[in-house]
Amino acid sequence: MLRSISDLDDIQYYGKKVLVRVDFNVTVSDGAVTEDYRIRSAIPTIEYLVKRGAKVILASHLGRPTLRDNNNSLAPVAIRLKEILNRKVDFVQDCIGTQVNSKIEKLDLGNILLLENLRYYAEEQNNDPEFSKSISSLADIYVNDAFSTSHRKHSSTYGAVRNFDIRLAGFSLKKEIEYLSMIRYNPRKPFTLVVGGSKIKDKIGALENLLPKADKLLVGGGAAYTFLKAKGFNIGNSLFDEEHFDWVKNALSSYGEKILLPVDHVVSSEENSYSTVTGDIPNGMSGFDIGIETSRIYSSEIGGNGFGTIFWNGPMGMFEVGQFANGTMNVARSMALAFWRGAMTLVGGGDTIAALKKSGVSESEVTHLSTGGGATLRFLAGDKMPGIEALEQVN
Ligand code: ADP
Ligand code: MG
Repeated sequence: MLRSISDLDDIQYYGKKVLVRVDFNVTVSDGAVTEDYRIRSAIPTIEYLVKRGAKVILASHLGRPTLRDNNNSLAPVAIRLKEILNRKVDFVQDCIGTQVNSKIEKLDLGNILLLENLRYYAEEQNNDPEFSKSISSLADIYVNDAFSTSHRKHSSTYGAVRNFDIRLAGFSLKKEIEYLSMIRYNPRKPFTLVVGGSKIKDKIGALENLLPKADKLLVGGGAAYTFLKAKGFNIGNSLFDEEHFDWVKNALSSYGEKILLPVDHVVSSEENSYSTVTGDIPNGMSGFDIGIETSRIYSSEIGGNGFGTIFWNGPMGMFEVGQFANGTMNVARSMALAFWRGAMTLVGGGDTIAALKKSGVSESEVTHLSTGGGATLRFLAGDKMPGIEALEQVN
């Protein structure tokens, strides 16, 4: 049984030290946080605990440091968190040890302490038992509100967790599980999948689970060309995934009638010029975006599904480059249209969320914006999620 923070009596939080594993792995540039969606996602959990008189200790990783370096410090996050909460947030330049312990001892009821980057210790990612013990000695109660790292077997998401008698899911984690379970087991029909991005490999597990339930799969981005090649089209120099070619062929033969592929493409050769072609992609050219006719078809499929569920992962093209962004921007706007018409819309993936931002569609025009990239796809694939399993009470 998975217990969440609202399942525990309020009184049990009063004066207790609560360690919350959050995912504050956000973009920091020139010492300031530039994208704070993940920080804002954790606010309901933090506020809930603060109001019940807990001493709130927040732990996170940031980036992939191999040693202590200032570029990966969580100090800028403390500043941003303070602004969002409009409360005092204390920061300590370590995540275990005497300095941390003395800060914790001084915490008052309802105070917040953010620890320094967990990954300054290699032991975190190695799930080292001693390090796990140090983490679990920091607090009385453990809360996981970091869905996006729950597919990892690290000390703070796994090793330390079972050392706590009371281990709970935070609001953000719970919401992710609820929405993604809905898609996985019981999506409101019609169910439209929109998949793009560059790597088919990452999406196969999720697609295997979701394709049988989906009514339509719209494929775009680099992933589309392997499908097109399997259908006999010439794809020029576009991305091709030899390793998963057989899987793609099988998917097409089992679910071909549900799968929509681009009919036209924005292509480019080495020389940096670009044009649109219909059907085959000439030799020497690569597809970098879906064409305007494909955009029209996909937009009407998405916007036309105003009753069911739409899940989108993966940009339709290399949207980071202006001339290849149109297809992705059109899909983003169509997702918003479907939301306004009443569809349940879910968007996941780091680059997909960045693309949504770029399109000007606001977060509130999406039913659920998943904080996870890899974790979201793993969950949908039905893979083990150590961070969630560790929360479950044995017996
Ligand atoms: P997410 O992070 O949302 O899961 P992915 O990482 O799967 O998305 O894919 C995003 C990347 O795919 C982007 O960097 C984008 O430039 C790239 N991409 C999309 N379409 C193409 C294409 N046709 N050719 C090359 N790269 C592409
Ligand atoms: Mg990505």
